[in-house]
Amino acid sequence: MSGMLAAFALALQVAAGAPLELAPGATYDPAIPTIKQVLGHDFGEKITTPEEIPIYLRALVQAAPDRTRLTEYARTWEDRPLWLFVIGSPERIARLDQIKVDLRRLADPRSLSRADADRLVRELPVVTWLMHGVHGNEISSSDAALAEAYHLLASRNDADIQAVLRDSIVVIDPMQNPDGRARFVFQNLLGAAASVDSNRMSAEHDEPWPGGRSNHYLFDMNRDWFSQSQPETRGRSRAILDWFPHVVVDLHEMGGDGTYYFGPPADPINPHIPPAQRASFDLFGRANAARFDTRGFAYFVRENYDEFYPGYGDSWPIFQGAIGMTYEQASARGLAWKRNDGDTLTYRDGIVHHFTAAITTTITAAKNRERLVREFYDYRRTAVEEGAKSATREYVIVPGRDPSRALALARSLAAQGVEVRRADESIKVGTRTIPAGAFVATNAQPTGRLLRNLLDPQTSQDEAFVKEQDRRRRLRLSDEIYDITAWSLPLVFDVEVLTSPTAITVRSSVIPSPAGRTLVDGLTAPSSAALPAVKVGYILPWGSATAAAVEEALRAGIRVRQAGKTFTLAGRKFDVGAALVRVSENGSNLAARLAPIIAKHQAEAVPIDTGYQDEGISLGSENVVALKAPRVLLAWDAPTQAQSAGWTRYVLERRFGVPVTAVRVGSIERTDLNDFDVIVLPSGTYAPLAGQQALDRLREWLRGGGTIVTIADASRWAAGDRINLLETRTELRGGRPEVEERPAGQGTSGSNQTSGSSSNSTPPAFDYTKSIQPERERPENTPGAIVRVTMDMEHWLSAGQDGELQVMLEGQRIFTPIRLDKGRNIGVYAGKDRLVASGLMWDEARDQIAQKAYLIYQPVGRGHVIAFAEDPNFRAFTEASELLFINAVLLGPAY
Ligand SMILES: [Zn+2]
Repeated sequence: MSGMLAAFALALQVAAGAPLELAPGATYDPAIPTIKQVLGHDFGEKITTPEEIPIYLRALVQAAPDRTRLTEYARTWEDRPLWLFVIGSPERIARLDQIKVDLRRLADPRSLSRADADRLVRELPVVTWLMHGVHGNEISSSDAALAEAYHLLASRNDADIQAVLRDSIVVIDPMQNPDGRARFVFQNLLGAAASVDSNRMSAEHDEPWPGGRSNHYLFDMNRDWFSQSQPETRGRSRAILDWFPHVVVDLHEMGGDGTYYFGPPADPINPHIPPAQRASFDLFGRANAARFDTRGFAYFVRENYDEFYPGYGDSWPIFQGAIGMTYEQASARGLAWKRNDGDTLTYRDGIVHHFTAAITTTITAAKNRERLVREFYDYRRTAVEEGAKSATREYVIVPGRDPSRALALARSLAAQGVEVRRADESIKVGTRTIPAGAFVATNAQPTGRLLRNLLDPQTSQDEAFVKEQDRRRRLRLSDEIYDITAWSLPLVFDVEVLTSPTAITVRSSVIPSPAGRTLVDGLTAPSSAALPAVKVGYILPWGSATAAAVEEALRAGIRVRQAGKTFTLAGRKFDVGAALVRVSENGSNLAARLAPIIAKHQAEAVPIDTGYQDEGISLGSENVVALKAPRVLLAWDAPTQAQSAGWTRYVLERRFGVPVTAVRVGSIERTDLNDFDVIVLPSGTYAPLAGQQALDRLREWLRGGGTIVTIADASRWAAGDRINLLETRTELRGGRPEVEERPAGQGTSGSNQTSGSSSNSTPPAFDYTKSIQPERERPENTPGAIVRVTMDMEHWLSAGQDGELQVMLEGQRIFTPIRLDKGRNIGVYAGKDRLVASGLMWDEARDQIAQKAYLIYQPVGRGHVIAFAEDPNFRAFTEASELLFINAVLLGPAY
């Protein structure tokens, strides 16, 4: 331990009395090394770094090789390894591979006799899966993971721990987000005072942008489980499908003034969680409570943390059949934290609380082994039965106009353990005949409840809960809705999914599940990658796959043009945005250069031997513009909203292969804007760009041909008074502009006019409810719903859409449509009767948002401002609106 750390540790003990014991009365085997022996610090004396965590785990493996396994399951974006640490009896560890085979067999009741199932239930250990630190600044959980591993291996003469080793296997994921933890530790040490400073505003506690919560691309990985956009999440879900654990706990931290949270969860609870799982929340809740009561630790249950969204680290495993739970410890965000009640919370306190809950959970699981293993089996068995009886017996994913999106949806489901089949022949669904190539997923399968969550247009919240939220919002109390209320993937992918009440039997092949580690690669390699030789060139109908292919082609030096209007050629009609790759512009080896790019992205290339169209514009028309690979400046760092900045960067770099230069907002003024074609402003309020000089520079660059893309709050900022980059306004509740244009020197008006107008009759009775309504208020909040947007299909921004798409809407931004002399409203929210596609939107919000602007195009000189009312890259699972965004970036500079 360094001198500085020793001083810290000493100061802590002085501040908070003797450190809390891990497990009072425990005796430990000296052959198992302590953390202090290996790393030089005891629990709570130091925030263990990401590099130190595997060092200690390796030391444990070395000391107890017959009871442990340490495996790497994935790598982060920053190339840090992710680990699973497995603990079991020597007998079980010796036959681990066979046990995993049996665990997987139990997960598919369709191919298991009841006698075999009963035998497996009697024999198999219960698998308890403890996941730590998905949010990198929730630091105590990873140190607790090391304490759990030590305690389980080193405890002597403890009947409970002997039961854990006898009847269970414990799998510890010690650090789900090492990139975020590294970021936290770096800034914490950088800001550390000479002796521990518990003041919450001290630099060591007060994280700079973007904070340690998220991963490299600034995703909240506790929302990514069904989206599967991040390698960390993909690795974790693959590991869970490799093991099928029965109990999964995700250990977090919350604000430092809290106590400790464990389940049962708060309302709303996802309707596809069956009663047996709900009962087991209570089993673990009571056991944890008993232990916390004994140790005198405060806790709360059934508040705040809900179980509705299926993409949390606890809920996604629930839909695989596990008992999934979240635990939350108040965070010291460093070594000590002065609470508002005057107490000092230490880092060690947090570790001990998490350790206590985690160890109690392993004991509870072991003591209820047979019940929990049987419940898992019953979950998967009843899911099949329920699906077979359901009115939604089968889903059919129709490839439609952008087959790459249907494929992406099918692959995402397969990666989550859902059995998806690709039909080798046409399917009849009702009166429709769907050609071969559609994807079929039956509800009568063990993951049917996850499938329903992801593909049904609506997942309902409990009526009483919704009613209570309605009451609360009327009183302007904050709602109790923890996350978004809609996530239906067919809607946000804009992929047609049909349902059938009867079983579909069709010749088909199963999309490989990820158990074999590769992700459906058989599907992505087309039978023939070659393109036919042509005289004129290839037409690429626009869509998600084409956008990615064209971006890559442009970077490879292939010249690509795009049709800004529709045309018909050789009997086929092409919508706005079809790309054209000419032989004459690219040389005779074009087919060989283009083919692998087309195949890689699963795009379509229509060979053409004549440029003479049947209808519409000619290929040589001035409406066919030359595209260029855009040079993109992405605003980065404060005051951008970190998640929006991260999603944007991920969609550009990883989804569509567009390189970006991320420039800190504070440095944009010193940046030569002529190095860029496009400036993307993620959601945020850009005070550093609000000075007259900075705005003049932006305007001049715009007039010279630049494209500015603004997202969500950045659009609101751009529409603000004094900024005026966007020539429309956001609205207040009731429709008044948020920024009113009024002559200088005049006070507020309007309200006195209406109140003074009743002169001829008796004054109306006092209306209490009306009298307490706020005078000036942002619009009604929407807690994350999916709504319909109607597109102007004549505009290039709409390329690849079919006239309407569904977008995620969250919050209180409403943009008055732009006037025709200023620009065009390319995307407009549907009328109020058709607006809401899924989720919860209050009537007041619906009525005001209907027919307001979603996507605004405003020309400025030779350039343009393109403004999104909402974030089109939401959690990177809104495929359809991501195409709108990529159109803005990729096509903006060409027009
Ligand atoms: Zn958390």
